[in-house]
Amino acid sequence: MSSTTASDQAVHGEKSAALVHQTETFGAHNYHPLPVVIATAEGVWVTDPEGKRYMDFLSAYSAVNQGHRHPKIIQALKDQADRCTLTSRAFYNDRMGDFLQRLCAYTGYEMALPMNTGAEAVETGMKMARMWGAKVKGVENGKQEILVCEENFHGRTISIISCSTDPDAYTGYGPYTPGFKIIPYDNARALEEAITPNTVAFLFEPIQGEAGVKVPQEGYLQSVREICTRHNVLMIADEVQTGFCRTGRKFACDWEGVRPDAMTLGKALGGGVMPVSAVVADRKILGVFTPGTHGSTFGGNPLAAAVGIAALEVLDQEKLAERAEELGEVVRSGLRRIRCPKLKVVRGKGLLNAVEFEPGFEAWNVCVALKDHGLLAKQTHGNIIRFAPPLVISRDEVEHALGIIRTVFEAIE
Ligand SMILES: *Cc1c(COP(=O)(O)O)cnc(C)c1O
Repeated sequence: MSSTTASDQAVHGEKSAALVHQTETFGAHNYHPLPVVIATAEGVWVTDPEGKRYMDFLSAYSAVNQGHRHPKIIQALKDQADRCTLTSRAFYNDRMGDFLQRLCAYTGYEMALPMNTGAEAVETGMKMARMWGAKVKGVENGKQEILVCEENFHGRTISIISCSTDPDAYTGYGPYTPGFKIIPYDNARALEEAITPNTVAFLFEPIQGEAGVKVPQEGYLQSVREICTRHNVLMIADEVQTGFCRTGRKFACDWEGVRPDAMTLGKALGGGVMPVSAVVADRKILGVFTPGTHGSTFGGNPLAAAVGIAALEVLDQEKLAERAEELGEVVRSGLRRIRCPKLKVVRGKGLLNAVEFEPGFEAWNVCVALKDHGLLAKQTHGNIIRFAPPLVISRDEVEHALGIIRTVFEAIE
């Protein structure tokens, strides 16, 4: 087999190897997955075609906060599948209003605009900010500026990668969308200095997930809030990854008691079942959209709405924010007790955590070893591994996972 790669050789068995081969043969190579195939899943656990079980410590980048196949969410999906699945926004459906009202109640905003993926929510937030700039702030149309941060991750569309600082994300995809200015993260002064009369929004992650779980200094979010208010600039928090209890609060901005002007939401809003995303804001901002100015065929579909309602209910009913805060402490203190000279930093909030090895260290083989020991995690930027299990994880399961991580890390040469 000419296309056999190192990945094929590291898989658990022949069935897995064949599935990896098939995927790599017929699929575009826009990902480099860990050599493991998942066939079934429940809660914190996933199983490969050979029957080996693994703990999922990535949670689909926090889209599975409620755990794999949460029974209440799956029931909502099944019930709605038997009633009505798609209407488009040409008509009303009997689930979307309920979903949006609950989402507004959960987030504390007056309005929501439903989309599907996180990238679409971010695009919607960008369009909202530009329209708000032209209509409300009085910026000349075409001059609107949006500020973003170095090392951001907001998705993969042309406009979003136009404001990325990751060469892998943007190289070769020009021409780029203008109207963005990139400033350092976790630097309130840089924000204030970058603002001009044409600045309509500051779009940022309250914790930078893809950058390697970069937690800003305490006080940054409050400073951002104060600066945005003073300059009449929309503070737009991208909580796609940090939202819905992941960091030990409903939203990461809650840690500083800060209310952004808008939030972009996705991932766990779909309960690990289907893509559900949204922008939430008050009427004076999200109200800039009028009929025909924005939309999505699938956005707000009844199946997504039913799943979204169940996803929100589970977060509350199972007190997942409290659980994430409490178990996050256990995870970080456990990781800090591991003796591994190459391991430099343990950081995170709630159950969004990362370990950083010394510069130049390649963590791929560590992730493969973790996988062989029954725990799935993925490195980012070569030397960082994120640990973000489903929030329904139990204390015993956390201890079990820490045991695996300790075994693997303490064997690193
Ligand atoms: C994952 C992510 C997105 C993009 O979401 P998709 O559903 O993959 O389009 C946007 N922002 C942040 C912070 C994310 O983590």
